[in-house]
Amino acid sequence: MTQYDYDLFVIGAGSGGVRASRIAAGHGAKVAVAEEYRVGGTCVIRGCVPKKLFVYASHFAEEFKEAAGFGWQVGEPRFDWKTLLANKDREIDRLNGIYIRNLNNAGVEIIESRAVLKDAHTVYLAAEDRDVTAERILVAVGATPFMPDIPGIEFAISSNEAFYLEELPERIVVVGGGYIAVEFAGIFNGLGVDVMQLYRGRLFMRGFDDDLRDTLAEEMRKKGVDLRMDCDITAIEKQDNGELHLKLSNGDTIHTDAVMYATGRVPKTDGLGLERAGVKFGENGEIPVDEYSQTNIESIYAVGDVTDRAALTPVAIREGQAFAETVYNDTPTAVDHSLIPTAVFSQPELGTVGLTEAEARAAHGEVDIYKTSFRPMKGTLSGSEEKTFMKLIVHPETDKVLGVHIVGPASGEMIQALGIAVSMGATKAQFDATIAVHPTAAEELVTMKQKWVPPAQAAD
Ligand code: NDP
Repeated sequence: MTQYDYDLFVIGAGSGGVRASRIAAGHGAKVAVAEEYRVGGTCVIRGCVPKKLFVYASHFAEEFKEAAGFGWQVGEPRFDWKTLLANKDREIDRLNGIYIRNLNNAGVEIIESRAVLKDAHTVYLAAEDRDVTAERILVAVGATPFMPDIPGIEFAISSNEAFYLEELPERIVVVGGGYIAVEFAGIFNGLGVDVMQLYRGRLFMRGFDDDLRDTLAEEMRKKGVDLRMDCDITAIEKQDNGELHLKLSNGDTIHTDAVMYATGRVPKTDGLGLERAGVKFGENGEIPVDEYSQTNIESIYAVGDVTDRAALTPVAIREGQAFAETVYNDTPTAVDHSLIPTAVFSQPELGTVGLTEAEARAAHGEVDIYKTSFRPMKGTLSGSEEKTFMKLIVHPETDKVLGVHIVGPASGEMIQALGIAVSMGATKAQFDATIAVHPTAAEELVTMKQKWVPPAQAAD
């Protein structure tokens, strides 16, 4: 039998790679994981975690204002970006330390190096200029920000840099209309930056329910984000005084201090040696895998964003766990990607699970829609005009709730619990039979009695 250095060699110590390494080692495998940047990966180091900390920070501006209606007198609030950055960095260092400790405790060897594939069982470690061999290799390298190739793109930043800006700009233009763009537009806006967000299409947040997209656009504009659809940048010019001039597709020019692209992420497979190892990959560099995360090469597996199934941390963790259970615990485990609850930490927040109305109509024909829009109780004294929106999509024959979509405070928290109900196949009748929790916003979810009727029909 061939002797390998390791049973499993994992490339990438992010959410998926760390979970797979720990579980495989726990089942007795000899495991090493290579990481070229920092253990923890995008989510922990420059993604979900610091983003959420920034979201908390940016909410305070509104909360100080709203406090007055409840009798509080708050002096002139002052924000210090450097304090936030330093505290964020300390927390990220702490989490990074925990990840390293957990890997060490599980007996996983951590190798601080870029690792590239040489063949189906061999990996080259660039920092150490040596090869190692493994019976199996798991590619968990994640994804990296994509930026379009336009003149002056080198003056733009991505979310990677946004987490480490030395100074908070006075003005910023955020390009893109997906998760990261709306989250950062909200963060910068809350922190007092003058924010413009540009989206190339008719309405941002493509793929989300149309009512959510409309409501979010309206609410973000109310909060002061200058949101422009059907708008793209054709060139960026840097002036001697550091100001950026953005040439727009509609002929306008915008002057700003910073421009951040959040125009999607691409699998980080460039130069990874996939061809040499015979691993097939797609047009964007993504690695196709089967339900057990195995590539076309028997000894090579892939999990997480690099597979472009669903670019979400909890999904990568599940895939890493399932891989390890399948291969090292003799328990074939496939991850069900069909129903994934998700939250977007825009301001206001979005929570969504299941089918959008358009998807439900395409799949089932007619569907029943229940929706409500209201000013949450807190707004009565705070003076906030922000509204909460909720929508249920129900199958007319089976009564099953096919989708739930929410815009408003704590919708991320709500959607986690709703994800359980929807994945269990809960019906509208079961929602209705559930006793409301009062006074909450969430109680509206179990008290929506009237089916929504399109305005034209309603007038008949
Ligand atoms: P998304 O895919 O969500 O959005 C990309 C946006 O950029 C879209 O609006 C897209 O427009 C636009 N775009 C793409 N290419 C161009 C271009 N050449 N010029 C102008 N606009 C362009 O990617 P993100 O970068 O926001 O996030 C990456 C992934 O990370 C997400 O898909 C999500 O899975 C994950 N994520 C999850 C979070 C969460 O769970 N809260 C938070 C942050 C990220 P169009 O719609 O027209 O294609």
